[in-house]
Amino acid sequence: MTLDWISPADRLRSLPPYVFARLDELKARAREQGLDLIDLGMGNPDGSAPQPVIDSAIAALRNPANHGYPPFEGTANFRRAIADWYLRCYDVPLDSDSEALPLLGSKEGLTHLALAYINPGDLILVPSPAYPPHFRGPLIAGARIHSLILKPENDWLIDLSAIPDEVAREAKILYFNYPSNPTGATAPREFYEEVVAFARHYQILLVHDLCYAELAFDGYQPTSLLEIPGAKEIGVEFHTLSKTYNMAGWRVGFVVGNRHIIQGLRTLKTNLDYGIFSALQTAAETALNLPDSYVQAVQLRYQQRRDFLAQGLTELGWNITKPKATMYLWVQCPPGQSSTDFALSVLQQTGVVLTPGNAFGTGGEGYVRISLIAECDRLGEALRRFKQAGIYYKTEALAAPAD
Ligand SMILES: *Cc1c(COP(=O)(O)O)cnc(C)c1O
Repeated sequence: MTLDWISPADRLRSLPPYVFARLDELKARAREQGLDLIDLGMGNPDGSAPQPVIDSAIAALRNPANHGYPPFEGTANFRRAIADWYLRCYDVPLDSDSEALPLLGSKEGLTHLALAYINPGDLILVPSPAYPPHFRGPLIAGARIHSLILKPENDWLIDLSAIPDEVAREAKILYFNYPSNPTGATAPREFYEEVVAFARHYQILLVHDLCYAELAFDGYQPTSLLEIPGAKEIGVEFHTLSKTYNMAGWRVGFVVGNRHIIQGLRTLKTNLDYGIFSALQTAAETALNLPDSYVQAVQLRYQQRRDFLAQGLTELGWNITKPKATMYLWVQCPPGQSSTDFALSVLQQTGVVLTPGNAFGTGGEGYVRISLIAECDRLGEALRRFKQAGIYYKTEALAAPAD
């Protein structure tokens, strides 16, 4: 039965249709038919949380002191662990009381930050393609979004010089994310310096998402926004334990940076939630204090998958750019096929799930994202099926000039 006497609030209706819905439907149908799906669509890591983190959570669970409401602002110990981690990784000192706030996953904080700082009608700068909460949060808050279309010829970096002066003057917040989901692009330090200068000039709040801080390869070390002098006066940076530590279901993230901005988010959250279960905050401290060898092993695992899949796809004629970070390959669709058409035809022909690039905004049209969330034997099976179905390889061969 549909309810015709009540309709959702405008803020819900302002959201663009959910591209994943049709994909989910087809996935469900394929599963019903007994098809062996290889799901490389989600950004959901496939491994377990580290054993020391699990042990720490179990021990903390046995302590009744952890069973009550946690403190609104997060436990002092977890906030101190965040500040210590920042000093160790980026040489950036933080005041753990005012400049670090634990979150129920970074998605929660990113979206609530929009509610804490955006009035209906405010102009917000968001790259396209982008991680969906970067534009869906502002849309829920009633923002007008000015999309910064990212282009391959610009290495998927934001082109600040393409932003009209009157837009920059009016803009209130700029969201950005390097290493990037979905493009896998990384940004050099000079880029961060330009963004900080731009934001200071136009008085724009910078919201940087550094959720792939540690999923970097070949010795590459991503830059923190807060390494740039003056950034803390105008910016905040989000992190998550979901990816590096395989803790996506635990819902632990945090934001660091400008104390006034963090205070605004804290005030909103005080009215919405009680934060993370204290036992999990204890486990999160353990995660941030794991030896470097843990992170190195994670990096190696994704690097091997990246190399294996990139090589296999290249042999099939695909045009692959190897990312220096993240857990994604960002791949152009065959000529003439939209993201959705290509992802759906791959699913129907092979049972391999990819994410159509337009799920990340119009700037992602013409691309698909492949997540490195399966072991190499499963990735090899995906490659075998692509070969059998002649996917892309055939298109490329046909498109090759006849000489
Ligand atoms: C996966 C991901 C996150 C993590 O979100 P959580 O809510 O912390 O699980 C944040 N930002 C980006 C860009 C991501 O890809």
